[in-house]
Amino acid sequence: MEQFEIAVIPGDGIGKEVVPAAIRVLEAVADIHGGLGFRWTSFPWSCDYYLKHGVMMPEDGIETLKGFHQIFLGAVGMPRLVPDHVSLWGLLIKIRRELHQSINVRPAKLLRGLTSPLRDPGEFDLVVVRENSEGEYSEIGGRMHRGADEMAMQTAVFTRKATERAMHYAFELASRRRKHVTSATKSNGISHSMPFWDDVFQDVAQAHPEIATSKHHIDALAAFFVMKPQMFDVIVASNLFGDILTDLGGAIMGSIGIAPAANLNVERSYPSMFEPVHGSAPDIAGQGIANPLGQIWTGKMMLDFLGFEEMGTLVLKAMEATLASGVKTPDLGGKATTTEVTDEVIAYLRRRA
Ligand code: ATP
Ligand code: MG
Repeated sequence: MEQFEIAVIPGDGIGKEVVPAAIRVLEAVADIHGGLGFRWTSFPWSCDYYLKHGVMMPEDGIETLKGFHQIFLGAVGMPRLVPDHVSLWGLLIKIRRELHQSINVRPAKLLRGLTSPLRDPGEFDLVVVRENSEGEYSEIGGRMHRGADEMAMQTAVFTRKATERAMHYAFELASRRRKHVTSATKSNGISHSMPFWDDVFQDVAQAHPEIATSKHHIDALAAFFVMKPQMFDVIVASNLFGDILTDLGGAIMGSIGIAPAANLNVERSYPSMFEPVHGSAPDIAGQGIANPLGQIWTGKMMLDFLGFEEMGTLVLKAMEATLASGVKTPDLGGKATTTEVTDEVIAYLRRRA
């Protein structure tokens, strides 16, 4: 029996509704598998916590998290009472940085039973691998002068180490999928960092001769995302380009409420963090109608990362069967509640077991 210690941070708003739903699904999976077990330890770190204690998480919070196998997070944010930079930097970004979660992975796939906003989406099934620790989001730069000469400079930082890490991960992922990696570049306009990015991509590609590659400038690539998403398998992108592409990826799936994500520490020196793309959705929180599928799919990504891919695949099938049977929350045009969708996913799992 493999037993995993999972730190749970439900967070704010609908995080507190969809996290327990996804845990029910993962418990059903463990039950069906028989050789897999979870121990969940919940932490109340959130904007609520901030309003009581003046911090998003306690001083020794990071040390505490290091004692777990993985982190399962809902959403943090309470934009009316706590500024976004406080909740972001005080919890999410702090955890990502201090636990070296340097790769952000976001799949986008047209699930059976869902309607994409694209006119002709085809059967797309892609994954964006985003470098999550450096690139354009560096803190190097500044503002200078005043008046007519006022200016700002921002330096992008690309190290071979971090670039290679993201690319190696993308190639390894592709080797377990359709064996194609696309690089998002802009070496026709950005004269230092992106030619370097291209060089590293070429080197990493040479180490993976079994994987086909292509590269596109980010502007053209974004257009292809909308016109022909079927052409992609795995896409590797810098921090900024990946940020933009992953949101676009979520959008073409049909609802932000289903989009999953993982912040991976690929060396496994510290826990990784699994959190859906959506936020705390204060506009629908407390009504029991939040779509749990984004959090459930995020749980599937955690299963994959823990080495239980067969169970992960089963969860995705259960989600598709649920959607195809018409049990959908209002964001997808249905009338079902969070609990009804979760029950349907679990019922499918039990029937298939
Ligand atoms: P935050 O500041 O926490 O990021 P936000 O309002 O910026 O919150 P989201 O919380 O992602 O961003 O919400 C964007 C929109 O999508 C809202 O209208 C919300 O109700 C809807 N939404 C987000 N997640 C879900 C979900 N799981 N189910 C249904 N609707 C959702
Ligand atoms: Mg937001």
